[in-house]
Amino acid sequence: MTVTDDLNTEEKELLDKVIRGDLSFHRLDSLTDKETAVKIRRHAVEVSSGISLVHIQDHSLNVEEVTKRNIENMIGAVQIPLGVAGPVGVNGEYAQGLYYLPLATTEGALVASVNRGCSVITSSEGANVRIFQDQMTRAPVFRLDNVIKAKEFAEWAKRPDVFAQLKQKASETTRFGVLIGVEPYVSGNTVYLRFSYDTKDAMGMNMVTIATDTLTRLIEDKFGAIPIALSGNMCTDKKPAAINTILGRGKTVVADVTISGEMVSKRLKCKPETMVEVNYRKNLLGSARAGSLGYNAHAANIIAAMFIACGQDPAHVVEGSTAITTMELTKYEDLYCSVTLPSLPVGTVGGGTGLGTQSDCLNILGVKGPGNPPGTNSKKFAEIIAAGVLAGELSLIGAQAAGHLARAHAELGR
Ligand code: NAP
Repeated sequence: MTVTDDLNTEEKELLDKVIRGDLSFHRLDSLTDKETAVKIRRHAVEVSSGISLVHIQDHSLNVEEVTKRNIENMIGAVQIPLGVAGPVGVNGEYAQGLYYLPLATTEGALVASVNRGCSVITSSEGANVRIFQDQMTRAPVFRLDNVIKAKEFAEWAKRPDVFAQLKQKASETTRFGVLIGVEPYVSGNTVYLRFSYDTKDAMGMNMVTIATDTLTRLIEDKFGAIPIALSGNMCTDKKPAAINTILGRGKTVVADVTISGEMVSKRLKCKPETMVEVNYRKNLLGSARAGSLGYNAHAANIIAAMFIACGQDPAHVVEGSTAITTMELTKYEDLYCSVTLPSLPVGTVGGGTGLGTQSDCLNILGVKGPGNPPGTNSKKFAEIIAAGVLAGELSLIGAQAAGHLARAHAELGR
């Protein structure tokens, strides 16, 4: 039996053409049904590489749907183990109660560690969480003749009557997105307009890109500024950037908890003051010395695992990783701990949120789909993630303070 025995004569002819280079991978989608196209592409890779792919064909994805919205040249799917940590108590404005956190990861010890943090938070009356800002940004770049024109343009873009026109134009492209601000940045004769939108339950990148595209054409017509690129990197999307940590992008979320000295000693096996010192010398001083944009232990671990589980864009872990963790000793010698996430782009509609397994994970948190009113589901989701990050920080800093990080990994076989 060869790997291509499941193909009929017509499909084998298509496969031969692909292998010979006479037919591109993506053209297959228009010559046969989507499932068969996936199979032929997979076989083409197997035959060309002389390998046998035995796992990636097994999945429950709706191929018709995902090839329309989420993936090109599909050949199968990868699986990532899914664990659950919690429940974690959350005292948010949108998330209130106990939540199990779905974490998709291959990093052994991560779920166990977050679970320990959740248990400590829940036993300490839960994590207080608040969202301080919610805006998705897109910053097109324009060329002007000179700095005189650049200043005229920057001032024009901020005029209330111009903003009203831009807001109206943007609203014609989306039922949910709302333009809420524009901030010009100048570099010689180059001007960036950083547009901010409330994107409700969508993470919003497609939404704001479509809206901003329309705005650049209006701006060219009305002012004559030459649009050079729809994104001028002042947004800043999927790159570590100080602008996002200062001004925020996506949700700006802050979570905190106070844990009694007794609980720290019993559950985290160390003292509050030791954790405060580890946090100061590692997360604050060490990060400053390293020139890091993230002043935390491993916020990206929790964000990545929850993003993958819940159908978020994993590239936005870059923004999420810029969290700041603080730890202080209270006057009663308890431990106060907070995490500040300046830039957490999340959504409960659009992107990968509609896929079967990802929908299941959003359902675990009670945030699948549009909220009522719009925007409440994505805010609830962001609050829960922040509580998860807080749990991860407490557990890891606790482990380092107790000096047993290496031992925990060894006991779990890694
Ligand atoms: P999207 O799926 O493109 O848009 C969200 C959709 O949900 C819109 O059609 C919106 O309606 C609709 N919607 C229904 N109920 C809603 C509610 N309650 N709140 C908000 N919207 C609601 O998703 P997106 O979040 O804008 O974009 C996410 C995708 O963008 C991800 O796949 C990500 O990987 C990708 N991405 C794109 C870029 C880019 O530059 N294009 C960059 C980075 C990432 P309306 O149509 O009326 O708005």
